[in-house]
Amino acid sequence: MHIESRIAQAGNRKDPHTGAVSFPVYHSTTFAHPGLGQSTGFDYTRTQNPTRKVLEETIADLEGGVRGFAFASGMAAVSAVFGLLRPGDHLVISDDLYGGTYRLLEQLLVPMGIRATYVDTRDPARVEAAMEAGTRMVFIETPTNPTMKVTDIRACSAIAARHQAILVVDNTFMTPYFQRPLELGADVVVHSATKFLGGHNDVLAGLVVVRDEGLAERVGFLQNAIGAVLGPQDCWLLLRGMKTLALRMQRHEENARAIADWLSRHPLVERVYYPGLAEPDVRAVQERQAGGYGGMISFEVADERMIPPVLAGVRLVTFAESLGGTETLITYPARQTHADIPPEVRAAAGVTDRLLRLSVGIEHAQDIIADLDQALRTAAKECGLA
Ligand SMILES: *Cc1c(COP(=O)(O)O)cnc(C)c1O
Repeated sequence: MHIESRIAQAGNRKDPHTGAVSFPVYHSTTFAHPGLGQSTGFDYTRTQNPTRKVLEETIADLEGGVRGFAFASGMAAVSAVFGLLRPGDHLVISDDLYGGTYRLLEQLLVPMGIRATYVDTRDPARVEAAMEAGTRMVFIETPTNPTMKVTDIRACSAIAARHQAILVVDNTFMTPYFQRPLELGADVVVHSATKFLGGHNDVLAGLVVVRDEGLAERVGFLQNAIGAVLGPQDCWLLLRGMKTLALRMQRHEENARAIADWLSRHPLVERVYYPGLAEPDVRAVQERQAGGYGGMISFEVADERMIPPVLAGVRLVTFAESLGGTETLITYPARQTHADIPPEVRAAAGVTDRLLRLSVGIEHAQDIIADLDQALRTAAKECGLA
């Protein structure tokens, strides 16, 4: 069946007792044993919960993996994946990635003996060159946050496989509606489901999907052993949000295309990062591996002094962290999502002090454009630029 149909049907008629169309929330933390040594499949909710199971089966199906795992946040999901590494293991990772992933790696994993090499994964030759005898994992985001660098998933999976390493893809920006990394050879997909999958800025969640049973057993062990599982109420909220994923992603992208196009012609905007506006070779990689360009745009304003008045001047658009919800959000990566990355590392990755990131919502594109236009023009006037 098409992915739209599978998305819309998430959880429908999965409850054998009632035929519920919206799968119930099983709050029970413990489940009665039918007899000694017997189980209904549910014993204790950290290990398995019926509502969480339906969510996990749904994401596994959408990503085309053998098993899914739901966590209390995207970072809990990322840390479970990093838990596959042992002290002394080496990891090759995108040099332009979510700030929280960088912070976890540098402040927790590296001090515990995991070695990391940051590379510009856009160039597969650089990934190959960074591989060592002890490399156990290649970790990429594509497109990256916030400068939308596109990495060839298939090329990276071939490199990882040749070196007996696993390829992990953070698929938060694309979601399985646009991009399914496991079909392109990746071993693990990780999501901040807080973003597009949840889609309504009302649930914090993380998901992991794995390609084979061996990885399923290891991630399943970590999920239960660490215990950062998603609670049943939040599993339900996420499932309910996910049912409209296809429609939302279509609209996010339609709006983002129009806004990126408009921004690229705006006199007060210097540079626009959007996969749909990238150079032809980059666009070709994106088009080969994904069904769209997504709903995220970053852009540089003409002058750094414009940043505070733009953020203060938007009316429809909300100045807030996060992304992927129905409401358009604007973020200042240098001071928010990427604040924990040293300035020189940030600058090298293109996260300048003039860069703003837009999570394009599902409002009418013309309203978003009009709001950004008035904010940019007012800001320029205040700075004496216009
Ligand atoms: C937000 C985000 C995360 C972290 O997820 P949380 O749900 O906030 O813990 C990881 N990766 C990417 C790409 C993100 O945008």
